[in-house]
Amino acid sequence: MTNEGKLIIFSAPSGAGKTTIVHHLLSKIPELEFSISATTRPARGDEKDGLDYYFISKEDFLHRIAKKQFVEFEEVYSGTFYGTLRTEIERIWKLGKTVIFDIDVEGGLHLKRKYGEQALAIFVQPPSLEVLIERLTGRGTDSGEKLKERFIKAAKELDYAPKFDIILKNHDLETACKEAEKLVKDFLKS
Ligand code: 5GP
Repeated sequence: MTNEGKLIIFSAPSGAGKTTIVHHLLSKIPELEFSISATTRPARGDEKDGLDYYFISKEDFLHRIAKKQFVEFEEVYSGTFYGTLRTEIERIWKLGKTVIFDIDVEGGLHLKRKYGEQALAIFVQPPSLEVLIERLTGRGTDSGEKLKERFIKAAKELDYAPKFDIILKNHDLETACKEAEKLVKDFLKS
């Protein structure tokens, strides 16, 4: 059995800036290791299998659900699954590191309920839904129905903020990154 370590959960609606903040933390704090999720969506842009995600087929994903290999999983968008493999958390704890997650709001709360005080759950809050929609549209990686689905989900997810340990406002990315760094360093020391 692996010695259990700590976990840091970053959740937010898509487009709130959590991925950028998580990458910033990974570049600044060597004790952190990114939890690579499994997903059934295809790779975007220069994403790499085994680095950004484990890109797997829906059949493989469903098989792994049946085998209880996920600590949590969600059908984040209709027909598209995302999940955290138990082996991923164990891999990171075996390295003696702290796991950091970039995960949707439901998944984040699920992990927080499971790991309690071992986990720090941070909700990244965009300035407003309007700004979020602008950012999602400007990203240009999704279009049409997919984009609409992201807007609807984002609007719902904003209501979950108070359930997290901390709400981190992302009005200015540089400030949010610095605040995140302090929060995480303090948690690692505690
Ligand atoms: P994207 O397709 O933009 O990479 O991710 C879509 C959403 O799924 C984001 O909110 C992302 O944080 C979330 N996500 C990524 N990995 C996981 C996971 O393992 N579990 C859950 N529940 N959500 C995830």
